[in-house]
Amino acid sequence: MADIRQQRLLPDLISYTTLIKAHGRTAQAAGALRAASSAEQDGIRLDVAFFSTLLYVLARAGRVTECERFIDSMPARNVMPDTSCFSSVIHACAKAGKPGRAEHWLQQADAHGLATDAASAAVLRAHARAGDVQRAEASSFARVCVTCLRMVTPEWRQKWIEAVAKIRSDVGYEQSAQQLRDLQKTGLLKLTDLKNAPAKFFEAHRLLARHAPNLGPGFWIRFTVHYNLFAGSVLAVGTEQQVKQLDEIQQKGLLGSFGLTEKLAGVNSGGVVNTIAEWDDQAQEFVITSADVGAQKNWISQGLVGELSVVVADLRVAGKRCGAHAFLMEVRRDGKVVEGVELGDMGRKTVGNDLDNAWIAFHGARAPSSALLSRYGHVTPGQGGTYVSKVQGLSNMAMIGQRLFSGRVAVAWAALTFTRKLFEMTREYSDHKKCWAPKGNATLTQVPQLNHLYLRAEENLSQLEAYVSRCEAELSACLQKEEIPPPALQEAIACCKIAASETSIDLCFRLKQDVGSHALMGATGFEQMDFLQACKFAEGDSRILMQKLARDRVRVTKPLGNSEEQKLAADLQAAMKGGAQAWDASFEKVYDLAWQVVLRHVAEKCPGTVLRMPCGLSKL
Ligand SMILES: Cc1cc2nc3c(=O)[nH]c(=O)nc-3n(C[C@H](O)[C@H](O)[C@H](O)COP(=O)(O)OP(=O)(O)OC[C@H]3O[C@@H](n4cnc5c(N)ncnc54)[C@H](O)[C@@H]3O)c2cc1C
Repeated sequence: MADIRQQRLLPDLISYTTLIKAHGRTAQAAGALRAASSAEQDGIRLDVAFFSTLLYVLARAGRVTECERFIDSMPARNVMPDTSCFSSVIHACAKAGKPGRAEHWLQQADAHGLATDAASAAVLRAHARAGDVQRAEASSFARVCVTCLRMVTPEWRQKWIEAVAKIRSDVGYEQSAQQLRDLQKTGLLKLTDLKNAPAKFFEAHRLLARHAPNLGPGFWIRFTVHYNLFAGSVLAVGTEQQVKQLDEIQQKGLLGSFGLTEKLAGVNSGGVVNTIAEWDDQAQEFVITSADVGAQKNWISQGLVGELSVVVADLRVAGKRCGAHAFLMEVRRDGKVVEGVELGDMGRKTVGNDLDNAWIAFHGARAPSSALLSRYGHVTPGQGGTYVSKVQGLSNMAMIGQRLFSGRVAVAWAALTFTRKLFEMTREYSDHKKCWAPKGNATLTQVPQLNHLYLRAEENLSQLEAYVSRCEAELSACLQKEEIPPPALQEAIACCKIAASETSIDLCFRLKQDVGSHALMGATGFEQMDFLQACKFAEGDSRILMQKLARDRVRVTKPLGNSEEQKLAADLQAAMKGGAQAWDASFEKVYDLAWQVVLRHVAEKCPGTVLRMPCGLSKL
């Protein structure tokens, strides 16, 4: 800033916002206040990003009075507070033990349609801390959070912790599958909880992921495939009757897989489905066939042991193509593979060999008419059959795609939880490992690059945890109401999956480089780092999600995001005039733009976040 003035230039809005952010990083609220007052003196036109950064810094420092003064002054300056401004003030008041003030700001936020579940939770906690049960219960905004707290009681949590502590990964996949059968039979987590108690569903995933550095990815994938992809698809596109079957499946301890990916579809699975489900009107059955070897299902988790599978196939009725649909069908009966189904083992993997991954070929396997998950469309028999769409504008495949949103949030949590645990385990070692230092012995933790990496990891992880929590809260509200998340939330969830998995890969990779020989030892967690590899491509590969973020962003013509985002978008819009090939030729800019979109979303929900481009996405 001094240099700018020396050159007889005036710092602009971005300079001041950046300076405030820098003060925030070193927890210097006084410096941030000085910068804000200089900006005003320089007559800078302040915007919402400036205020949200300032409020975040002040809130973190507990400067409640200043927070309230600034947010109060915003309308007079023609700047309307956004969600993050309100959230910062609400959190500051709640943290300072002022539940009344927190509730006041929550009401203001709600009046603008900007109240969030996370802010409601903060108010609720403040009332609870003040021992004001009546206010806590009366707070209409906190109702959602009360529901969440009721779902995840301390007793339930303790029981779940004890149940998952018994899981082992040094077993074959039959035994691993038995562990999941036993776990679901406890009834602690119902197959329907994804809809009825999403807070429990996500907490169960998180607590299980704490064991991932020891167990590897096998059991976690088995678990999420069963609860999210298999049961979740039945919940999303099944009729009431079909959803009811989930209780019986759970009681009997049956397991299910989710057959979407095909040998020639890979990351484009969903977009490409060459498994065919032909309606046989006479038999009133579906005949499932893999069109060719490329159409065989691939990588299907739990495919070798599961009795059931939700198979995605292209429905044909009376010779007409009706698009991809999901079929809940038996693949094993009384321990034997059913007729027309061929199962094969995909072979040894780098990690997670306690999980069976199958290729599945269908050779005219027969499924009853009740197999079609038919909440949104069904087949009426007679005269070759007629496909009837029940809800206009809603396709079965779009609703199956909903599972990807809960899956993405669960995977984001898994990546962050794995990373936190790996850092904890490594820190335990480095705190006690002595190293030579110029002035006597030091611990490995004190080595500067490692020390700074620990600080950075803590900062990145806590910020991303806050961000994923917010996405989870907003998604949970949609899940309970059976609503499709609005496009902004869908994009925010894609960003949470990318940011969490890629930042985790970056942090763990750096940790491995800087902790020395320890990283080569067994049982340190480093041997399970490919867990994060699975997080990278499960439920939407980072690159594919980033391609979509960038494509959607260049379609927006109005200014959006910071100057860097706007410049990248403008460059790509211009490049596109040179034809579609220009998009691929500018691939580095495409990913840079997508990363800017990620940063914007994260900053909107959690201002002050400082994320760097992770090494897995950096330029060649
Ligand atoms: C352990 C494990 C469990 C799984 N469980 C299941 C399951 O239960 N059910 C199921 O249906 N599937 C499952 N899968 C499949 C999984 O979803 C796919 O493996 C994943 O989608 C990636 O497919 P691929 O590796 O074949 O990618 P490919 O299509 O071969 O792509 C390879 C890489 O190229 C890049 N890429 C590809 N196309 C593009 C493009 N157009 N633009 C830019 N970049 C691109 C991406 O970075 C991608 O990672 C599982 C996979 C694994 C490894």
